[in-house]
Amino acid sequence: MTSGGPKSAKAAPVINNIDELLAHALALEIEAVERYADLAELMESHNNRDVSELFIKMSEIEQLHVAGIQKQIKTRNLKRLESINYQWISAEGPETADPADLHYLLTPHQALSLALLNEQRACDFYKSIKTATSDNETRTLAAELAEEEEEHVSLIGDWLAKYPEPDDDWDYDDDPPNVVD
Ligand code: ZN
Repeated sequence: MTSGGPKSAKAAPVINNIDELLAHALALEIEAVERYADLAELMESHNNRDVSELFIKMSEIEQLHVAGIQKQIKTRNLKRLESINYQWISAEGPETADPADLHYLLTPHQALSLALLNEQRACDFYKSIKTATSDNETRTLAAELAEEEEEHVSLIGDWLAKYPEPDDDWDYDDDPPNVVD
């Protein structure tokens, strides 16, 4: 029984055509570029230069993926692509209307956890396409993409280990930004 709400990451579709995979990958990678840029900005506002720089780097890495995918799309002369609407799961969970709406108090640990969750989800997405497809070309590309996301999972995982869990009262702010001093 389904209640209609996206309780878990949507199952990847069965794709037997590399053009379709490219369209999906483009949506996924563009989303990652944008979310990492948001996270970088957020960490900058926390004066956390290290984690901000990591997210800027991740955004650049994902931008390279976008460029690579766009190049393949161009090479194949694909005119119109049906693309999915791929969105990151937010810090508040998959039910949140706007996943880009980051809590301004997200700690580095929570920001990294969010990134890890979405990297893992991207990796699973490509892996399930790889497993389900009957097309060799699609399988090869999905495997490549899954492998790259796996590297991101382990990179973010390493950083997460450096930033321990915050205290329970992480969202208590004794100096909210909209209070006039
Ligand atoms: Zn990634």
